[in-house]
Amino acid sequence: MAKVTVATDWLDTCSGCHMAILDIDERIVELLKYVQFTSTPITDFKHPPKEGVDVGILTGAVSNTHQLEVAEEMRERAKILIALGDCAVFGGICTMRNFFDKDEVLRTAYVETPSTDEWGAVPTSPELAKLFDRVMALDEAVKVDLHIPGCPPPADAIWYALTELLAGRIPVLKGENLTYE
Ligand code: SF4
Repeated sequence: MAKVTVATDWLDTCSGCHMAILDIDERIVELLKYVQFTSTPITDFKHPPKEGVDVGILTGAVSNTHQLEVAEEMRERAKILIALGDCAVFGGICTMRNFFDKDEVLRTAYVETPSTDEWGAVPTSPELAKLFDRVMALDEAVKVDLHIPGCPPPADAIWYALTELLAGRIPVLKGENLTYE
């Protein structure tokens, strides 16, 4: 039987949600009998394959033009797209900057920090991603099929969701698997 293909990537995020995937510990060996991870920051392979994957998992919010491109590519190539973690599900901690003007945020980061020298300036290279005025949850940018909240989500919730999908069922998160922290 062909393995289920899974691609993962991260957007505006810490790596905590990807660490939570690894937190399923030795069960990952069992999972690998049925699942092939294609691209993922864990292995550093970039871009889901052009022929598509069965499941795409994105962590993090959408804060800039590059992250939107990553989200759109994953959406295009994944049959089922999972938003993993509070940042992806509703913006999470990344949305703290939504209380401030974007230019003020950039100035604070690049010009006004105590460690910034007198030449500090907001970078303007056209090769750099452009920050959006406000941080978006993933489903404000692309269609999401399954939300798994938590900061990070419990490993058991990730295990439950993946095994339910493998069984051909849509996971219904509840009880200890459904956390908002
Ligand atoms: S939800 Fe928490 S652990 Fe996951 S990426 Fe956001 S801050 Fe990190």
